[in-house]
Amino acid sequence: MSEGALSHLNIVIVGAGIAGSCAALALCRRGARVTLLERAAHSNEVGAGLQIPSCATRVLRALGLGEQLAAIASTPAQLHFREAYSGRLVINGAPDNDQSDCPHYQAHREDLHALLLDAAVSHGADVEWGARVVSVQQENKTVVACLESGNELRGDLLIGADGIRSLVRQQLFGDGFPQFTGNIAYRAMIDASRLSRTVAPGVFLGPDAHFVIYPLRQGRVVNVVAQCRSDQWLEESWTTPADVATVRHIYQGWHDDVDLLLSAMDETYKWALYTRPPMPRWSVGRIGLIGDACHPSLPNLGAGAAMAMEDAFVLTELLAKSPNGLEAALDTLYQLRIKRCTRVQQASKRNAELFHINNPLRRWLSYRALSLLTQTFPGLIATQLRWLQEHDATKVVSVT
Ligand SMILES: Cc1cc2nc3c(=O)[nH]c(=O)nc-3n(C[C@H](O)[C@H](O)[C@H](O)COP(=O)(O)OP(=O)(O)OC[C@H]3O[C@@H](n4cnc5c(N)ncnc54)[C@H](O)[C@@H]3O)c2cc1C
Repeated sequence: MSEGALSHLNIVIVGAGIAGSCAALALCRRGARVTLLERAAHSNEVGAGLQIPSCATRVLRALGLGEQLAAIASTPAQLHFREAYSGRLVINGAPDNDQSDCPHYQAHREDLHALLLDAAVSHGADVEWGARVVSVQQENKTVVACLESGNELRGDLLIGADGIRSLVRQQLFGDGFPQFTGNIAYRAMIDASRLSRTVAPGVFLGPDAHFVIYPLRQGRVVNVVAQCRSDQWLEESWTTPADVATVRHIYQGWHDDVDLLLSAMDETYKWALYTRPPMPRWSVGRIGLIGDACHPSLPNLGAGAAMAMEDAFVLTELLAKSPNGLEAALDTLYQLRIKRCTRVQQASKRNAELFHINNPLRRWLSYRALSLLTQTFPGLIATQLRWLQEHDATKVVSVT
């Protein structure tokens, strides 16, 4: 299959987040002409950490970004889960990096997004910033994206990579809105030079709340995500500022590491966590969905962006294999991906419940059992996650 197999196609992608940027890169590498329509005036990726499981590393390497990824990311040495107050070990969660030639990385979200978008642009993708799509249509073999500005963009295929509140999904299926889970995530980046000592990466688990810590950018910053229950109905956005005093109050009395990070925290942003059930299909005709637009997951498995990148790669390979069967490629994407993406949604939800056990007796029993199991079998968590980590989306479609 030649690199230019898709050179006859004009593809419109709505949303230049991780899914849209990755799809643009993959499609341009196969020769397609791609226009990315992004409502934001400029890249709106924010300061937050991102787990990049091995399955996503495989996709990024196949897209020619292996070396750049290694330069911006680090491999977690360990990610132990501890009890919120005592710091007692609950889960020995060392990742399986020793046995894998394809590491699990962690990176700054902005860095990964810039890597994908810059590579897409250098392969010819056209990005239109400040281009909010207000409706999509298809007539015969032409798709049309209508912009708020009144402009219209036509193409052969339209991909909705416009996130959990996808306009494209709403237009195709009208299946309602995401449901608030009753949890919010506060996130912050803390300058490591402001800390009086090094803080080990890990996750602290408490009643109705947990607190995630890991280093980024060669240890210069510490990424913090603090998730807790909240009655407030909030905007699902990375950029809503929150009150640091509120976060300090919620995590008062937690382990010294949490306390140290909270005392060095200058600013924080909050993000309300929403879910949507699995869908019966992701496309209608020549318009299809990828990423959070069709299978958003809670952040508790750290795999949502990975699924978005896998979708982008698999769809491109399906199109390259059968360049004239656009509708069939979108249908097949769903058939190939729905089980895995649903499993990620379900596993993330189960983790969310495990991380927030409120009942003291249940918490004590669960943590004792987990501690015993994972210390007796140190590879247990890695083994449990093999279905996620070892999947190779680059081999799902064989293009000849
Ligand atoms: C706290 C938290 C931590 C997370 N941690 C991880 C992690 O460690 N690892 C991991 O793999 N995943 C993680 N995730 C999940 C991950 O962030 C998402 O799965 C991923 O960002 C989805 O990418 P996307 O491109 O599909 O959607 P988005 O990132 O939401 O991008 C959608 C884009 O579409 C644009 N857009 C929307 N509507 C329109 C419109 N009408 N017209 C034009 N443009 C539009 C938006 O501006 C945006 O740029 C986390 C999520 C949260 C909330």
